[in-house]
Amino acid sequence: MKKTSFKTQLPRLTLVAVLLAGSYLTAPALHAQNLPTLGDTGREDLSPVMERKLGEEIMLGIRADPDYIDDEVAAEYLNDFGSRLLEVHQEARGDANFDFYFFTVRDPMINAFALPGGFIAVHSALVVLAQNESELASVLAHEIGHIAQRHIARMIGNQKQDFLIPIASLILAALTMRSNPDAAMAVAIGGEGLAVQRQLDFSQNAEREADRVGLQILRDGGYDPSGMVAFFERMQSSSRGYSDNFPAFLRTHPMTSERIADIQSRIQSETFKKHIDSPDFQLFRSRIRVLQDESAQALLETKSYFEDQITHAISLKKPYPAAEYGLAFIAFKQNNFKEAQVYLDKARKESGRETGNDVSSLFFTSLQLDILLRSKQNPAALKAAELALQEFPVSRGIGRQYTDALIANQHGEQAITYLRDQTLLYRKDFGLQEQLAKAYAAEGKEALQHLALAESYALSGAISPALDQLDIARRSPDATYYDHAIIDARERDLRERYKDELEALKKQGDKK
Ligand SMILES: [Zn+2]
Repeated sequence: MKKTSFKTQLPRLTLVAVLLAGSYLTAPALHAQNLPTLGDTGREDLSPVMERKLGEEIMLGIRADPDYIDDEVAAEYLNDFGSRLLEVHQEARGDANFDFYFFTVRDPMINAFALPGGFIAVHSALVVLAQNESELASVLAHEIGHIAQRHIARMIGNQKQDFLIPIASLILAALTMRSNPDAAMAVAIGGEGLAVQRQLDFSQNAEREADRVGLQILRDGGYDPSGMVAFFERMQSSSRGYSDNFPAFLRTHPMTSERIADIQSRIQSETFKKHIDSPDFQLFRSRIRVLQDESAQALLETKSYFEDQITHAISLKKPYPAAEYGLAFIAFKQNNFKEAQVYLDKARKESGRETGNDVSSLFFTSLQLDILLRSKQNPAALKAAELALQEFPVSRGIGRQYTDALIANQHGEQAITYLRDQTLLYRKDFGLQEQLAKAYAAEGKEALQHLALAESYALSGAISPALDQLDIARRSPDATYYDHAIIDARERDLRERYKDELEALKKQGDKK
């Protein structure tokens, strides 16, 4: 009984893995107008609520992966950028009004992928390759197209809550192994070669449909759709160079000329305004170029890359703030704070964005605060952080730096008040809880510190360490009667969740 039900599960899961692993470079060679129906007719799609839950579950694993680029400034830029694309097509958020989240992962392959529920990843190599905002937008718009058209939800089909965790771990496994072609293919094929082949047809049509929706989003968002063609062409030529370590799946389904020609024919009769990029786009690329490999050797190589850029720019009599910014960020990473400051000042001067609120950049402001904080210029850091917070009131990264500056200047109480307000606004942000724990620690509030740490672990999906922290909180000498009540209630919730997860994983094990 159980064996048969697994049979029907397996193809669906593995196919999702295939779609996700190569969602960007797969080829839409077919010319059907509508999406074909999937194998079993009458099967329902995964509900939007379950789709979101599945996406969140996968994200817990991705955030814990060392290749996840955990950088507030880059994330804020990318999410501002992505939400502006969605502004003109709110319907892409679907019935459940998905709160999209865009992020970057370290990966030398030029690719991007969409996860269930509105989570979109871009590989670092893709960010570095994109020459302008229209090119980056074309990739994000394509991935938004996959989610808007519910491609993944349709492939997975309706699932019970119990299956979410096993599906999430399967997708995660496929993602983790995406840079190890042989292993990835083993997961993807899993002895169900026929089913996979059948599904590829769907995937090719899905690619084409995502291109079509993406093009519309791109155009209506005021970007230059020829950026899509230009970028796809560059992706096509770059992917040729990868033939040795490219997964077999991508080798046999490259970005095709048909796909590019298809987009070209859609846009040829139209005229477009040229899109003017935000200067932050180049700063974003510089930052990702540094973050994609932070080993000592790689930082030296990236440094000489930026130095070459500057030499080249000087010969053309052009400004080069993004390269100066890159050098400032590298110097900061190497703990050369004086040098970082010199380059940052140069970058600001070059960009003409030295002073005044309307011309400042989150990239500059945040690096300035980091330099002041790390070099222990505490009063200056607090002064700069207060100004920065006025300038970027909704930036969570600046908010965190502001509380770091408060703590460094022995104003822990103020930091606690600010952070507690923030946790009410952003209930799922485990970084905020972690920062709150730091602020409590600075004030010597032991029970509350461990309670906040427990929340932080729980939000990041680490239930067992969260339970340990609750235990420490309970034994803290300063735990009040009120704290005990909260600790007990949280423990009951978490134990329940822990039990459910273990059972879900056990069910999956039984079926093997
Ligand atoms: Zn795609």
